[in-house]
Amino acid sequence: MSGLFQDDPAPPEMLPEPPAGPGLFGEALPVVPPPAELATPYRVLARKYRPTSFADLIGQEAMVRTLRNAFAAGRVAHAFMLTGVRGVGKTTTARIIARCLNCTGPDGQGGPTADPCGVCGECRAILADRHPDVMEMDAASRTGVDDVREIIEATRFRPLQARTKVFIVDEVHMLSRNAFNALLKTLEEPPPHVKFVFATTELRKVPITVLSRCQRFDLRRVRVAELTAHFARISAAEGVAADPAALDLIARAADGSVRDGLSMLDQAIAQREQGEDAPITAAQVAEMLGLADREAVFDLMDAVMAGKPAAALTLTERAYERGADLGLLLADLLELVHTLTRLKAIPELRSSTELPEAERTRGAALAERLSVPVLARAWQMLLKGVGEVEFAPDRRAAAEMVLIRLCHIADLPPPGDLVRRLTASPGVSGLAAPAGGGGNGGTRMVAGGAALAAEPTPAAPRPTSFRAVAALVAEQREALLHAHLVHSVHLVRFAPPVIELRPLSDAPRDLAGKLAAVLLGVTGQRWTIALSAEPGEPTLAEQGSAADAGRRAEAALHPLVRAILDAFPGARIESVHDAAADAYGLPAAPPDLPDFAPIDAEPMDGEPPDLSEPPAAFAQMEPEP
Ligand SMILES: [Zn+2]
Repeated sequence: MSGLFQDDPAPPEMLPEPPAGPGLFGEALPVVPPPAELATPYRVLARKYRPTSFADLIGQEAMVRTLRNAFAAGRVAHAFMLTGVRGVGKTTTARIIARCLNCTGPDGQGGPTADPCGVCGECRAILADRHPDVMEMDAASRTGVDDVREIIEATRFRPLQARTKVFIVDEVHMLSRNAFNALLKTLEEPPPHVKFVFATTELRKVPITVLSRCQRFDLRRVRVAELTAHFARISAAEGVAADPAALDLIARAADGSVRDGLSMLDQAIAQREQGEDAPITAAQVAEMLGLADREAVFDLMDAVMAGKPAAALTLTERAYERGADLGLLLADLLELVHTLTRLKAIPELRSSTELPEAERTRGAALAERLSVPVLARAWQMLLKGVGEVEFAPDRRAAAEMVLIRLCHIADLPPPGDLVRRLTASPGVSGLAAPAGGGGNGGTRMVAGGAALAAEPTPAAPRPTSFRAVAALVAEQREALLHAHLVHSVHLVRFAPPVIELRPLSDAPRDLAGKLAAVLLGVTGQRWTIALSAEPGEPTLAEQGSAADAGRRAEAALHPLVRAILDAFPGARIESVHDAAADAYGLPAAPPDLPDFAPIDAEPMDGEPPDLSEPPAAFAQMEPEP
């Protein structure tokens, strides 16, 4: 450990081998000054323009206010926890805090201050990353308890030259449990000359015991407008002209991270096509980032919302040829839908500088035309679509499919209307009818069903089908017998007054006698209930569930239902209500078509030709194996 912290200065020849990676506090080593003019001439913008004071720090006003107050009142916490996404300024803030704590002012007499002078020896050493008392450790590479013991060991020594030793631990959530435990003891009773500044992108991985010992600051993502203004200042300082739209694209892509944004600006400056004096254009940045340019995104939104798939696909192809990633293009549309919805919800946004020019003008016009339900559906479809593109073997094809679907969003009535249309229109309510192909059978089913549903169906004194027998039993409040007729018997033959049944094992032994008694009571006629070993028809319950499955399958093919399923990701058909079906979920049979006729039976004499086919629900039945 010797030599790491300079607490026990070793003669130069005894200094340990330089570590392969950055040392534990490698950056704090008073390194030999770099050979003059040998350093790379170009410093990346993020380093060159790293804020050195709170005044330079953008987008973190709340934190800065609190810190200023703390320094003014002389009540500075002994440990800070800085959290936020990457590149928002956590380590920058940590270094500013280190200078605030140690600045001695230009005259060397100053105390801790929220506005470090930047010229005293302490300020300059910290700025140059070579202050022996300000130590940075990256917990991502040093996670063990031994690494933390080095820190704890170091806290026992007084600072070498400054007032306060500052330990900056980046990505602190990476420390092991033991490492945290070791640290905790020091945090509970910190030596007066020691301060800790922890930084993390994943606060939830930091133990609450550690968290409770720290003053916590949440650094927020920097707003697009703030980033754009920041990048404009830096471009100007670099003597580079940049279109505001170009900087806006970079600011959006940076997603709140100053550092990420500055790396993109670095790239954009380096990639200018026409050389040194050329401005950075939006088209160039869009190409660099694989983005479709803003106007193209608006054009595409216009096309899909107007229901013009051809125009939408042409625009998509152009974007694709320019190198735009179509997944990102959909993400852009998704973001635009969000913006349009916000514009509808908060009309004042139209005059806000938070939104770029295109959003305020074209966006406002689009928002005017589109309803919130349509925007909500577009959002859902795009959200689903963005995911689909990620997993599709052909991203372009997947994106085009999403856009075509989106083009039909305007055709879709709102959900309330859909429900009304589904329930009110007889054609649509006959969803159980075969919808595919519009064959004669299907058409007739719809017509027949509707006609029958309109007829009152009085309790027939002489049931003409087994189903009618079961219904009659239900009317007599013979619930148990009814349940057995539905679930436990297979109809073998229905030839009034003879009914042949094959009972299942759970049917009561006296079923035949009871049924005969009920029928005698209701019809005044003696019925013969014969038991048979022939397989017979499926039970009424089986027929009902098969018919229901058929209705669902057919409903799923209905164009309107398919559109609904597309528009509402995760939606499924719960049940299909067929107004023409009877209590057993079966299409009512034409009264003069004997129910017991086998499927392939010849029509009886005088049968109207349009009823010669058996109802579709029966055609789907499979006899029990
Ligand atoms: Zn200073």
